[in-house]
Amino acid sequence: MSRTQSEQLFRRAQKHIPGGVNSPVRAFNGVGGTPVFFERAEGAYLFDEDDNRYIDYVGSWGPMVLGHNAPAVREAVQQAVARGLSFGAPTEVEVEMADLVCEMVPSMDMVRMVNSGTEATMSAIRLARGHTGRDKIIKFEGCYHGHVDSLLVQAGSGALTLGTPSSPGVPAAVTADTLVLPYNDAAAVAEVFAQQGSDIAAVIVEPVAGNMNCVPPTQGFLDTLRAQCSEHGALLIFDEVMTGFRVALGGAQALYGITPDLTTLGKIIGGGMPVGALGGRREIMESLAPLGPVYQAGTLSGNPVAMAAGLATLQALREPGFHDALEAKARRLTEGLSMAARECGIGFTTNQVGGMFGLFFTEQTRISRFSEVMACDKERFQRFFHAMLDRGIYLAPSAFEAGFVSIAHSDEDIDATIKAAREAFAALL
Ligand code: PMP
Repeated sequence: MSRTQSEQLFRRAQKHIPGGVNSPVRAFNGVGGTPVFFERAEGAYLFDEDDNRYIDYVGSWGPMVLGHNAPAVREAVQQAVARGLSFGAPTEVEVEMADLVCEMVPSMDMVRMVNSGTEATMSAIRLARGHTGRDKIIKFEGCYHGHVDSLLVQAGSGALTLGTPSSPGVPAAVTADTLVLPYNDAAAVAEVFAQQGSDIAAVIVEPVAGNMNCVPPTQGFLDTLRAQCSEHGALLIFDEVMTGFRVALGGAQALYGITPDLTTLGKIIGGGMPVGALGGRREIMESLAPLGPVYQAGTLSGNPVAMAAGLATLQALREPGFHDALEAKARRLTEGLSMAARECGIGFTTNQVGGMFGLFFTEQTRISRFSEVMACDKERFQRFFHAMLDRGIYLAPSAFEAGFVSIAHSDEDIDATIKAAREAFAALL
């Protein structure tokens, strides 16, 4: 498969764009080689600048749960564009969006729209601190909450790929109140609360971790977070930027039956446009400006074009059976891949929650800790990634990212992926 256009564009890109990309993981640092430059996308497929077709399991890192260029979303955007791009003043579509999001995620009495997942978590942390009058926050190893200074400590995603778990440019004072604990370690959480519970403003967690590959929570872990936060007057923040509207209509909180105090959303909520959101209990949300003293703002927040894309996407997800179908597709994929690996004698396991999944090159059968993810064979992943890419399958270019299926992936697409994987596994030996 020739990718000369991508190679040329990448050389050109590096002249005026740091690393040739506008977000680090896109640079293929985690897998080596030249990033693919895409020209268009349709349904389950991406088409690159050389007109090669790929079955896509990245979905723009999550938003494209309906598949690329879904007609309902495209038409909603086109209609919104015709009415004007931005007013910097309230619009009806924002009200509709807020009503719908609060209906779909019942723990949210109120919601504030922002422009990215990073903004959502940054604002949620400020709100939690402002509301509780406390400074300390707990986050978990391998969880990524965007490039928020105070959360860029032992973070996942690109921060792992680049081997920079915390970044230069973040003063030590900014992370001094960030406590980092192992994911799925309920005892560690209870211990820290026993020592410093009255200083802790919030616990922020990915309820299914998707930035250290895909690691589901143990039920006891989430239960402990809820119980400890309630007991000590801290707020529980579910970062559902990845899981929201994906692992279930009401997100991971619906799937696991846990009610957080605050929720952050991103990706799907914008349907491919730059949108994030934070929301939660009324009394907490009323601490936000202009009702309350915690400042938060945005020139383009609630942008009418972005809201139109998000609204059309969320409405489509409410079709009966949507999430069952999505989950069945992800399961067909992970089961097929596991069987193919077994046939080839490759040490391999998968995790899968709803429409998200993780692939691990390991002899272990179960991955539930960050340390276990880090112990997987990254070199094998890299070779597998490229073998798949050359067979027209686009996986996340990093061993630390979850994969996504969309509703547009057909059984034929998934079976073609498994067939390609069988060849790729065989080539690893
Ligand atoms: N939180 C989680 C759980 C995420 O997965 C991400 C992005 N991958 C973010 C926050 C940050 O979102 P954004 O990239 O839109 O700033």
